[in-house]
Parts: sequence; C-alpha cells; structure tokens
Amino acid sequence: MDGFSVTITEAVCLGTSIALSGICYYLYRKSRATVDKLDEAPHFNIDKKLKDILKVTPGACLQYAVIEGAVKPVGKPLTSLFQKEAVGVLQRYMLKEHRLVWNRLSSTWTDSELVLHQRVNTVPFVLVGADETTIKVLSPLQASGLNMEITHEKFHQVNYGLGDIIGQYLSGEKLKGQLETEEMLKVGTTLTGIGELILDTDGTLNLRPPSNNAQYFLSITDFDTLRQEQENMNLWWKALAIASALAGALVLLWLSQRFYQHLKVRWEREEMRREFERLRAEVPAEPEENYIENACVICLSRPRDCVLLDCGHVCCCHSCYTALPQRRCPICRQNISRVMPVYHA
Ligand SMILES: [Zn+2]
Ligand SMILES: [Zn+2]
Repeated sequence: MDGFSVTITEAVCLGTSIALSGICYYLYRKSRATVDKLDEAPHFNIDKKLKDILKVTPGACLQYAVIEGAVKPVGKPLTSLFQKEAVGVLQRYMLKEHRLVWNRLSSTWTDSELVLHQRVNTVPFVLVGADETTIKVLSPLQASGLNMEITHEKFHQVNYGLGDIIGQYLSGEKLKGQLETEEMLKVGTTLTGIGELILDTDGTLNLRPPSNNAQYFLSITDFDTLRQEQENMNLWWKALAIASALAGALVLLWLSQRFYQHLKVRWEREEMRREFERLRAEVPAEPEENYIENACVICLSRPRDCVLLDCGHVCCCHSCYTALPQRRCPICRQNISRVMPVYHA
C-alpha cells in the first residue's frame, strides 16, 4: 500500500515477539514431554528381583526407569581438596572472578562473573540397594539435575590503593575478588537416577543415558521434588509463550489500527477530490489570457482554480493542492479543512 510504512521499532517488536513466542512454545512442548515421560516411567527398587525382571524383558533393557540407591565408589574414592574427611565420586572445582561493570544505560554498577578455571573429576560408582545389589552409573556428566553438595566456598577479596580506585572509575570496571568453590557427590548420598536400565551379559546392572531421546537425570533430591521442578519449569515456559504471543498480538493490533487510519485519510481525500471535480464541472472555464496573472503559485502554469478553507487563500490549482505533502495552506500554513472551486462571474 503506497504511503503506508511499518517503522523499524514496530518491525523489531513484531519480529522479536513472534520469535520469542516460537522459542518459548518449543521449550514448553519439550519440557511437557519430559514431565510426561517422568510420569510414565516405572519405579524399581534396587534388589535381586530387578535382575529377574530384566532377564525376561526383551533386550534385557528398560528404556526409561526410576531407581534410588546409595552412592558407592567402585574403586578408590576422590578426596576433597579442602576437607580431608570428605570422600566422593564426583568433584567439581571452580574459580570464578567477580567484577562490577559500569552500565551506561542504567547508570549503575552491575555484577559480572567469569569462570577462570573449572575442573571435574570422576571415579566409577554404583548405586547400592537394600540387599547390596548394585547398579553401575554410566556417563554421570551427561545427566541433568545433578546439584552436588558444596564442600568448600571461599571469597578472596581484593584490596585497593587510591590509584586503583581512580583507575576503576576511568575504566568503568571494578574487580571484586575471586570465588573458589568445590562441590562433591559424596559417598553414601542417596541418589535418584532416571535413565535406561540394562542387564549386561556379565550379569552387571547398568544405568545409562536413554537411547530414546528422553532426558537422563541424576539427582540428590527425591523423585517427587525432581518432577515438581520440571513441572514448574514447564509452567514458566507456558507463561512466557503466552505473554510473548500476547505482545505480538498487541503490536499487530496497533499496526492494523494505524493502517485503518491511513486508509481513512485516503478515502476522505478521494471523497473531497470527487466533490471538487463535481463542483468545477458546473463552473465555466476561465479564458486563456487571464492565465499569467492568475497562475498557480506552485506550478505557475495552470490557473488558480480552488479556494482553501478555512483561511480562504486562492493560491494554487487543484492538481498542486492534491500533491501537497501536508494538508496545509502553502501561503499561511493553516490546516486545510475543505477545498472549494473558485467561481468566476
Ligand atoms: Zn498548480
Ligand atoms: Zn492560507
């Protein structure tokens, strides 16, 4: 439609809200599928009966099952770097740098952190059931939901001199210090595992990442808490998808309202032009010789044949009037509410 254009801000708002609602909807569907799979997954106790169940299962494999047992290392466990008595099977050491960065937009200092160093150590481990039956846990680092126990946390503050403080205000960055943390999955912790259960040919039970694209979970919380966390996440994605879709609808509504206004103005102009043509048809044409002194101030070729209201100026021809970029009198800049043909007696 000529004369109507979408501004960059409107295009960005519309594009962003459509893209966001698409992403949020996708994540909502994905987390819904995860919760549904968790609900369908059978729960088993780690005991001798589990082996018997797997023996009669096709492929000696249960695609998605929930088990719970105590963590026990297969060989020598890992020892904490900071607490000599703490032993575990998974250990994550992390050193993070914390800085304050000056934000010009909000005129405040905002926190920013950077991982300087991270190290993860693992040793093979099993989950032990009530009757000492064990299940070996494979690829634990691929599992989600594993929040380990913090065995060490220390913040190393930085001390400054006057020169440093001046430097910080000039550069807009302040170093706060370094945070050193160590997390461990300790021996003896009760762990909930959700994944594929398989009975190996040598008679060992294994828990491994599912081959059917379901999510692999290892968690130190119980199943119900884990399921609730997933459910909450699902609700969040749903709310965000609805909110961004609504925002997109609002932008569309705003655009269509603006387009309607644009059309209305065009219809009104068209209506006025027809009215003018009709009135002019009733007026006899002016003789040629009067053209020069009575020429339109804009094109200087056609006669002035209309009067602009409300100011009353007779200064231009009707074609120049319709081509005006703004509906204002070219002489006095007053708004034009109507235009009438000039009647020469
Ligand atoms: Zn003209
Ligand atoms: Zn005027």
